[in-house]
Formats: sequence, C-alpha cells, structure tokens
Amino acid sequence: MSLETLLQNPSSSPQSGANSFDKEDFNNYVMNTYGRFPIAIEKGEGCRLWDTEGREYLDFVAGIATCTLGHAHKALIETVTQQIQKLHHVSNLFYIQEQGELAKWIVEHSCGDRVFFCNSGAEANEAAIKLVRKYAHTVLDFLEQPVILTANASFHGRTLATITATGQPKYQKDFAPLVPGFAYVPYNDIEAIENAITDIDEGNRRVAAIMLEPLQGEGGVRPGDLEYFTRVRKICDENNILLVFDEVQVGVGRTGKLWGYEHLGVEPDIFTSAKGLAGGIPIGAMMCKKFCDVFEPGSHASTFGGNPFACAAALTVLQTIEKDNILQNVQARGEQLRSSLCTIVHKFPKLFTEVRGWGLINGMEINADISLTSMDIVNAAIEEGLLIAPAGPKVLRFVPPLIVSEQECDRAMQLLEKAITKVIQ
Ligand SMILES: *Cc1c(COP(=O)(O)O)cnc(C)c1O
Repeated sequence: MSLETLLQNPSSSPQSGANSFDKEDFNNYVMNTYGRFPIAIEKGEGCRLWDTEGREYLDFVAGIATCTLGHAHKALIETVTQQIQKLHHVSNLFYIQEQGELAKWIVEHSCGDRVFFCNSGAEANEAAIKLVRKYAHTVLDFLEQPVILTANASFHGRTLATITATGQPKYQKDFAPLVPGFAYVPYNDIEAIENAITDIDEGNRRVAAIMLEPLQGEGGVRPGDLEYFTRVRKICDENNILLVFDEVQVGVGRTGKLWGYEHLGVEPDIFTSAKGLAGGIPIGAMMCKKFCDVFEPGSHASTFGGNPFACAAALTVLQTIEKDNILQNVQARGEQLRSSLCTIVHKFPKLFTEVRGWGLINGMEINADISLTSMDIVNAAIEEGLLIAPAGPKVLRFVPPLIVSEQECDRAMQLLEKAITKVIQ
C-alpha cells in the first residue's frame, strides 16, 4: 500500500476479523508473564480498536498511558514512514541529527539541561540511578554508600535495580538478592522522609537522592501533595540530596501539563520519561540539570537508545501536542471525566469511595469493605466494548489517548455504567 493511500485512509489496513487468532498456539510459544484478557487486538484508529473477531472497543488504556496520539495518527504515520525510508538506525558512535533535535526540544520545554536516550521507562530509571551514584561517588564528598529513598506503592520498572526501587514487595518476591542502596518511605509523608534521612546517616552511608513519582500511577493513581513536594525540595536543597522524578507515566502531557512536576511547584534535578514520549514507539529518556551531569564517555550507553526512528517519532508527538493544543483538550476531557466518574460514585455509593487524578490519568477507588475487585469491573467493561486498566486490586485507571473527544468520554462513561450495573446483578 502506498503512503498516499495510507494517509488518505488510515483504516484501509487488512479487514478486521479476516484473520483467525489461535490463543493456544500463542501460549505454547510465548512466556506466560501476563494475565492476558481473552482478546487479540488487530487494528486501531484514533481511540477505537478492533479485535480479531471484528469487535470494536473504545480504548481507555492507550497501551497503558502510551499511545499519546491514539492509533494510526496521520502525523505519526507520515514521520515514521519517511524516517524508515531515510535512516532508521546508526550507532551512537556517530552524531544523530534527530536525537539532537529531540533533546533540544525537551530542554527548551522543561527544567532539564541535558538528555540521555534509551528505550524504556525502566532503562531511563536505571540511567537516573547510575547518575545519582556517580554523582555521589564523584561529587558528594565521595560518598561510599549512597542510599536512594523511594516511596511505598511506587513503581519504577522491572529490571533488578528498578524492582528494588519499586516500593512494592510483590514485584521483588523471588528475585533476591536485590540491589543494595535503597530505602522506603510512605508517600506524601514528610515526617517519614525527615526521619529516614537521620536514621540512614551513619559513617559512609547517607541519603544521596529521593526518587518519587509526581503522581503514583501503578500504585493506585495517587497525586502528589503540593505541600509535601515543596518540603521535599527544600530538604533536598539543604542536605545536598538529589531530587529525582519518575515521569514515565505522567510526563508528556498526560496530566494536562507537559510534565507532572508542573503541578507541584517544584523542579527535580533529574527526571525520566518513556511511555507516552514517542506515542507507542519504544523510547526512554533521562533528563538532568547541568550541575549533576557527571556522565562522561564510557559512563553509560545504549545500542538502540536515541536512534533516528524513535527520536523522529517522539519529536512529532511533542510538536503535535504543541501545534494542536492537545494540553487544552487533556484538561477539558479530564474535568469532564472526573465529573462523570463522581456522578457514577454517587449512583453507587456502596461500591466506590473516591475519584482522583490529573488531566487524563484518573482513578476510581473501589470500597475496601466489599469483595468487588478492579479486575471484575475491567472484565465487565471489556464485555461492553470499553478497555480500561486496573491500578492495583481496588482502583480502576482511565488513561485514554490525549486526543480523546467529548463524545468518546461520554460514551466510555455510559459503557462503564452498564458494566458496573451488570457486575453487581
Ligand atoms: C511503566 C512505568 C515504568 C516502567 O516503564 P517500562 O517502559 O515498562 O520499563 C517506570 N515507572 C513508571 C512510573 C511507570 O509507570
């Protein structure tokens, strides 16, 4: 199919339902690392997806807060089609024009001064952890045992260092020994941070960094508290501690602002991005201020990181967010969704306790006193043609593409209400 045809008619890909999908065959060959829903998605357009049976779904998962511009977006199709024909990969042994342009855009639109590119959120956080340690060993009075404080219920990825950083035992179980040099505090609790800093300070052991999500995504869609983050920033400044933000889920416009930290009135020294950055093309990035940019040739590297293909895609995503005023849509749709979700909470006061979130990352909490789980409702919603994701056993997460329309939000809420009604029958 020619590019022209594709651009004119993005849905003219192979017909839905034409392929039969063999689940058993899949399970025979692919490692069983996911509890999968019993559908196979075959194509998408905007906020709609179709499975191999030809059933249509409204997509409020967006590849878990990743498909920023939805599916088959014209600008993204055009960029990746042209880029793959021109140049898709060369080594970082050479200058990569698209990488430089993307880094410049990010620096001009954030508090970061320098960017390192990789391929995923976990890798971006690994890079941040390595940068913190190198800074501690080379700048912070040559600190021998730097400790990174992270929050309970946080999520930072699935590599060994990032499951250690993740403050949830269920992700660490069976993978001992974990990486040394991490300690945990409750989120949004300033006293806990003050106590931890004092407790850890002993000989050559000291807190070198505090790593937090501006809003905890995986851990239940919990927004950071403004006063807490202001105090954390001050504590970091007073004690030579680096402040690291994991913006993997909340960055790139998801919250209605370009970066999550803009909601908190503070700037991090280091922050990471991945999920939504290239709208679904794999990429990760770690940004830092100039003063803590202690990496030098040989310190860190990635074969694929920052290749022309992923960088061109990311630049198009960011420029489209700017050009099409997408942040405005995120704010308006976010308010609409939270208001509709609150209405649902009022209709089912025994089932739900709270709605919370920023922009287009929102959570609805299920009453802890009842046996209903997020998976019960997620499964029922899929039956109705709405894709949503759990954020833990008791929270429903709504993270549609940032281009979602008013009508699509209304429709999603109707489908959700239908699903809830069915599940409690
Ligand atoms: C998803 C996520 C990660 C891990 O990203 P991967 O690309 O899956 O490695 C890290 N931190 C946060 C906050 C995330 O939401």
